[in-house]
Amino acid sequence: MTSLHGVGPALAKKLEKLGLFRVEDLLFLLPLRYEDRTQLVKIGALVAGNRCLVSGEVLLSETVYRGRRNLLVRISDGSGQLMLRFFHFSRQQQAQFQPGVRLTCFGEVRRGSVMLEMIHPEYRILRGDQAAATNDALTPIYPATEGVQQGRLRNLTDQALRSMQEAPPDELLPKTITKKLGMPSLAEAILFLHRPPPTADVEQLLEGRHACQQRLAFEELLAHYLSLRRLRALAQTEAAPALTEGGAEVSEFVRSLPFKLTGAQQRVIDEILVDLAEPHPMMRLIQGDVGSGKTVIAAIACLKAIACGVQAAIMAPTEILAEQHWRNFSDWLRPLGIEPAWLSGSQRVAARRESLESIADGRAQLAVGTHALFQEGVEFKQLALVVIDEQHRFGVHQRMALRDKGKLSAGHPHQLVMTATPIPRTLAMAAYADLDTSVIDELPPGRRPVSTIAVPDTRRSEIVERVRSACAAGQQAYWVCPLIEESDVLDYQAAEASFHRLTEALPELTVGLVHGRMRPVEKERGMRAFKEGLIQLLVATTVIEVGVDVPNASLMIIENAERMGLSQLHQLRGRVGRGAAQSHCVLLYKPPLGRLAKERLAVLRNTNDGFVVAQRDLELRGPGELLGTRQTGLPDYRIANLARDADLMPEVQMTAETLRHHSASTASAIVRRWLGDAGRYGKV
Ligand code: ADP
Ligand code: MG
Repeated sequence: MTSLHGVGPALAKKLEKLGLFRVEDLLFLLPLRYEDRTQLVKIGALVAGNRCLVSGEVLLSETVYRGRRNLLVRISDGSGQLMLRFFHFSRQQQAQFQPGVRLTCFGEVRRGSVMLEMIHPEYRILRGDQAAATNDALTPIYPATEGVQQGRLRNLTDQALRSMQEAPPDELLPKTITKKLGMPSLAEAILFLHRPPPTADVEQLLEGRHACQQRLAFEELLAHYLSLRRLRALAQTEAAPALTEGGAEVSEFVRSLPFKLTGAQQRVIDEILVDLAEPHPMMRLIQGDVGSGKTVIAAIACLKAIACGVQAAIMAPTEILAEQHWRNFSDWLRPLGIEPAWLSGSQRVAARRESLESIADGRAQLAVGTHALFQEGVEFKQLALVVIDEQHRFGVHQRMALRDKGKLSAGHPHQLVMTATPIPRTLAMAAYADLDTSVIDELPPGRRPVSTIAVPDTRRSEIVERVRSACAAGQQAYWVCPLIEESDVLDYQAAEASFHRLTEALPELTVGLVHGRMRPVEKERGMRAFKEGLIQLLVATTVIEVGVDVPNASLMIIENAERMGLSQLHQLRGRVGRGAAQSHCVLLYKPPLGRLAKERLAVLRNTNDGFVVAQRDLELRGPGELLGTRQTGLPDYRIANLARDADLMPEVQMTAETLRHHSASTASAIVRRWLGDAGRYGKV
């Protein structure tokens, strides 16, 4: 860096903190966004939230007191008026804004109390008949960098771009690929993105869809994909117990089920059994829509391990769900002489000790629980299979931590991850490239799609009547209470309030309540009573979101549906439609609905297919919402954006496989360029 003009040791240190060590690193410090000062926007056409260049004539300027002194300058260009607001200003400045003075200004447009405003815009007074000056090209804005100003970054990148002319960075993508995709070379793309020429397609560039952006996004996605595949390949070199026995037990169990497995279930089970027979850890993701029958698949995988004389564990995200599994698995496996152990965070000390002992000495062949299963102090005798059910959020770091926890003398345990919500295929490719994926693309026969309507909450009493008649006909209903973000307390108070209102309105019904603040035994009692039909209407918070299975429930009301994510609503709706009766879901919303909210609720009314819902959720809200922002292990991409660029993934995948097999050194160089020496996920 110090070879650059104007960079001394002090600045070099600052740059190092930003991850910039070599001149080439500057080339990959791409503008975060661009400012468009290439054209003047008519004041009458301004939209709040945009950053624009306008020109106009001062109509009026005054100082007012709003707690502190404000300088307000009203300007007009004949199409409309705009207020410029300054909090800090000199007398000199104040004197400049005489009525009739012309100026240009650039800033963010905001909604003001009287008209649209710009707060502290950059401005320039125009002299005489001087015309408003526009820039030829978009202005690049670099990522916020402490202590290094935009102007400085522009200067440094200028120098880096000049030296790039002599020594361009290595072109790492095969020509066949860039040609096929119509992508520019790396050097062309970099130059263009740092200094878009006046002819650049502004709209495309601002949306991130320009071929030059796509060129770099492609390489970045490729780097992450390769890094995850490398992780996968490393796992393949590790040992795991090969589970080859137990075929007879599995067949016997399948025969004993009260239903016939669907073709899709059978196919996925076959894939799992093949993996388990290998002496390397399985790392498989099962994608299936709500109600596609994932639990029984988990049970069969566990049975296979147990029949081979080793232990299995199944972990669920909530106590309610873990308890339900525990009951299901106990019912299914007890006839075979298998007694699962139960482990949860809220267990009594004595019961916990008992569970821990039986897990440690191997008497418990199967352990069921929440993440308490993988906390300090839990020792398995011979854990060979870990099943993680209904995970919304399960990043690569968590997957790796789990593998290490389960480490045993015979190697690593096999891992089976089951998603709570389907994930669009392209997104799964990016987020779960270290896993093999099985898809259950078929529902058990006889399911009737849940009919879904959206109703304003002003018509609540009608809906209450609907609950009354459904229950009178022997059916059961869920009433899901408003989601109050970030607050357990408010959440449960809202649930209690609804519970009291509904109890009063429906005196002939038995109404139950389940919320996150109850003790697990109480929750369990409520759920069990509902399952056994003793409770007809269950008022609940979103604790019942995932996995709960009560086939006789055929009506679900969801309050404040407009505030929830599509995938979450689909997941909730999946609690009904599990039995023979036609099921209904009512999405109650607080009017008026915004355009986006309307569109989102329409998605649910129009489809019951979780994969379609997920795809729309991805388009409308982005991958963070779908996978959970923080815990996904989804990286912060520098230039790629999965909501926008996920459609590159199939090509990324093909390119990656070609590189891995035919030019491993290029593959490594790509990972190094974007993720540093260790690769993002480190060495395993
Ligand atoms: P999910 O995939 O949402 O976890 P579950 O495993 O809870 O779904 O299954 C939903 C319901 O469907 C359960 O009541 C289960 O017993 C039942 N089920 C599973 N597989 C079949 C099948 N092949 N035929 C009929 N019912 C099935
Ligand atoms: Mg399930």
